[in-house]
Amino acid sequence: MISLSLAKIAEITGGTAHGADGAATVTGPVVIDSRTVQPGALFVAVRGERADGNDFAAAAVAAGAAGVLTDSPPDGDGVPAVVVDDVVKALGVLARAVVAGLPDATVIGVTGSSGKTSTKDLIAQLTVRRGPTVAPVGSFNNEIGHPLTALRADEDTRYLVLEYSARGIGHIAYLTEVAPPRVGVVLNVGTAHIGEFGSREMVARAKGELVEALPPGGTAILNADDPLVRTMAARTPARIVTFGRAPDATVRATEEWLDEAGRPRFSLVTPEGTLPVSMRLHGSHTVGNALAAAAAAREVGMPLHEITEALSEATAVSRWRMEVSERSDGVTVVNDAYNANPESVRAALDALRHMSRGEGTGTRRAYAVLAGMAELGAASVTEHEKIGQHAARCGLAGLIVVGPDAAPMLEGAKQVGSWTGECVQVDDVGAAVAALNERLRPRDVVLVKGSRVAGLERVAQALLDDG
Ligand code: ATP
Ligand code: MG
Repeated sequence: MISLSLAKIAEITGGTAHGADGAATVTGPVVIDSRTVQPGALFVAVRGERADGNDFAAAAVAAGAAGVLTDSPPDGDGVPAVVVDDVVKALGVLARAVVAGLPDATVIGVTGSSGKTSTKDLIAQLTVRRGPTVAPVGSFNNEIGHPLTALRADEDTRYLVLEYSARGIGHIAYLTEVAPPRVGVVLNVGTAHIGEFGSREMVARAKGELVEALPPGGTAILNADDPLVRTMAARTPARIVTFGRAPDATVRATEEWLDEAGRPRFSLVTPEGTLPVSMRLHGSHTVGNALAAAAAAREVGMPLHEITEALSEATAVSRWRMEVSERSDGVTVVNDAYNANPESVRAALDALRHMSRGEGTGTRRAYAVLAGMAELGAASVTEHEKIGQHAARCGLAGLIVVGPDAAPMLEGAKQVGSWTGECVQVDDVGAAVAALNERLRPRDVVLVKGSRVAGLERVAQALLDDG
């Protein structure tokens, strides 16, 4: 991050500096967890549901923090601080001022219902070949994580790659004020968080705020295969670039297939030419993310051969997204337990089916361990049933559902008359592991997936520890 005195931070945020006239200098990082404080850090005292950051302010300073951003004046002069009315707003204002002052940074923003983190990670793996890139680790995409990441950028930063997430109308608009993007990618409009939005149209309205915020000289990168994303072209003053499988997409994939491990191979077609890509990531849904990343990299002047090379070498950076591991007995564990919504569960099941078909290596038995998909509101039961049907049509040897929310999946699966697999209902992670241990044989493939609250990565971990 760039160096800032507490007095300067107070000036930017309209706050008051306490302690030594604000002479202390923050050199970064800006953090909300006092355990991650390093010398020179700014500790932001956020009042959360479980803990009040102010309780850790003194500890943060003792650990070397240059100061604290807080809404409550510290006792005495011992804790250098900037006192503001609203800490989260002040954090946003600070990030905005810092980003606006960066001489060479292009902000690349990603939104969509599924794949933001995966695509952000891909874009960053491409742009880093062109220049210093700042991108969050994992899913730092809300009103706190977003500015914390933006504040990591400094004078040398060329690319700031950020995820813009919405749980309501106006959320993304706010984040575009914190870090105004010049390139904006919209991946898809799905059913994630639909319980809060009410309809896909409302989700589209919220996601479109990213491209509405682009400047006329910027670029909107839109998924040509998603009708609700395509129509966002009318909502932006920026130039439009499209990606997808549609024949009219600016950046598209042809000759697409999956290898025996479920890794995509395709030809990347751009106005500059066509070159092959062999991905290390798993599942055909990663092709769309790769196309979006290619379109973004193209916007910052990356030549085609470099794009295809970088895409072919890209790995999964953030945890628990289609992490494929092999046990010594040949059982393959696909840990996609980071989160789940209907589109991403379908995509993961499709990848599982492909892996179990094992072209060239013989068929393998496939098990899916699925927990509920959160935040679907009134659509919840139907969406779970549909996933159960889809799972059955993938020809699984067994479907293991964890917890009561996921139970309608079993009903859905049983509706598929041609399916001969086994249905198992368990209450928790431990029972899921026990059910698998009773059933797994060498060379089976297991997919593990559920919403964040389910914590199914523990199932994947247990399987790998045992193996
Ligand atoms: P969040 O809103 O939780 O931050 P996200 O949009 O950042 O999610 P990722 O973390 O990249 O999404 O991926 C979440 C899940 O969706 C993973 O299981 C991943 O395999 C799957 N996924 C990734 N890209 C796509 C896509 N384009 N379509 C459907 N599913 C996808
Ligand atoms: Mg994310």
